[in-house]
Amino acid sequence: MGKKTIAFLLTGGCAGCEMALVDLADRLVDALEHLEVVWWAPTVADLKYKDLEDMPDKSIDLAFIDGMVRLSEQEHMVKVLRQKAKILVAFGACAALGGIPGMGNLHTKDEIFKTVYFDTFSTDNPDGVVPQTKYLVDGKYELTLPEFYDTVRAIHQVVDVDYFVGGCPPHHEFVAKAVEAIIAGNLPPKGSWITSGKSVCDVCPRNPANKGETRTPIKEVKRTIEGAPEEDKCLLQQGYLCLGPITQGDCGASCPKVGIPCRGCGGPIPGIKDFGARAISAITSLLKDEKTVEQLMEKYPTIAKLFYRYSLPSALINRRISR
Ligand code: SF4
Ligand code: SF4
Ligand code: SF4
Repeated sequence: MGKKTIAFLLTGGCAGCEMALVDLADRLVDALEHLEVVWWAPTVADLKYKDLEDMPDKSIDLAFIDGMVRLSEQEHMVKVLRQKAKILVAFGACAALGGIPGMGNLHTKDEIFKTVYFDTFSTDNPDGVVPQTKYLVDGKYELTLPEFYDTVRAIHQVVDVDYFVGGCPPHHEFVAKAVEAIIAGNLPPKGSWITSGKSVCDVCPRNPANKGETRTPIKEVKRTIEGAPEEDKCLLQQGYLCLGPITQGDCGASCPKVGIPCRGCGGPIPGIKDFGARAISAITSLLKDEKTVEQLMEKYPTIAKLFYRYSLPSALINRRISR
């Protein structure tokens, strides 16, 4: 059997997902015996648009995209890669859900430009310059920049996606399993998340159910800056708003194990359409009374930043509509 051709494209992300691939270390070297990398840009090779555009359609067996779509350039490259790839994987929270950069959907493009190019303490912009998509230098040289869209989109909102992998970044142990499953052709139905199917709570050593204990209502909402949680006890039971009950646990409950509440980067467990809406429902139903609801509103004034931290672009209402 010949090697499978593989491609990686970073769009609007931080490249942390690609660090997770590098974290595979010797397992990545083993995987490369079965894979031929034909495109890995812009992080690894200085390839040009045309290098990808010139490849025959469906000539890449497997393509990974990490990062979301905010710029016209990203949209173009995602569409080209879709055309060239047989299987397309949205890899990591940004690609699969919109990710942390998707929090930008709480603001308009104009608000973001105002903050970045005018209002920050370190900005020095006396001529009020903001990026233009076209600019003529000396009346004859036209410079272009990609368009900055008003809204961040996840990859499936731009092209058809075959598989999704959660995590910010995906946990390297799980990446190894996902890559091995893909190489072996041992894949779930198209459109699925590649996941163990377990929630973070399922794999969390703090889970009261795993110790034969029952959950009790949350008596006080706490933030992590308010002190260290008790060892071995469920964070949610202690009032720290952990999203483990509705998040895929392919990370092995990395955060709760070290006393940090899960923030949902693994993506929704199967059957959930809108992660944030389900998170609000799951968490608020555990609050003891009105006082704890008031504490929640007071301690998390922009509640979308808690419940939609990684998934706002994929929500049913995926951006701020009005003030
Ligand atoms: S999912 Fe996280 S690690 Fe991956 S590109 Fe986005 S911000 Fe970076
Ligand atoms: S709510 Fe959080 S701390 Fe509690 S069992 Fe679930 S993952 Fe663990
Ligand atoms: S515990 Fe939650 S936030 Fe932390 S890595 Fe796992 S899925 Fe992501």
